[in-house]
Amino acid sequence: MNKCPFCGNTKHDVGSKSSYFYSQVLDKNSDKQYTHFLCRKCFSKGPGENNENDAVQSWNNVIEHDSEFCPFCGSDEFSVESNNKNKDSPFIYFVSCNNCKAFGPSGCSKNEALKRWKTRDKSDHHPSG
Ligand SMILES: [Zn+2]
Ligand SMILES: [Zn+2]
Repeated sequence: MNKCPFCGNTKHDVGSKSSYFYSQVLDKNSDKQYTHFLCRKCFSKGPGENNENDAVQSWNNVIEHDSEFCPFCGSDEFSVESNNKNKDSPFIYFVSCNNCKAFGPSGCSKNEALKRWKTRDKSDHHPSG
């Protein structure tokens, strides 16, 4: 499993499978539900896919290691969104990639969300084991 391109977290395989997969209805028009790989450290999410296997594959397919573009697909078509639909959870912002439906780490402000989206973990990848 790849480390998180944003925070470098590699402890993805701890716990049950359901603890690192995340599903969300994104497209209100089609009610299409995507499955994301979720980093539980910075709460970034990999590209939205149809199933868990594809979500893992996309998470491992980091192509942009050092830019402000989407680390998974290289797109610069992204927007800052917030979770203000849900009043019960704390108000957070996050960058959403319009192309592959990936999400950046969450932040307390739009600026923080953008800053964390543009931040790439610089540490070397240590294979688990
Ligand atoms: Zn992370
Ligand atoms: Zn993307």
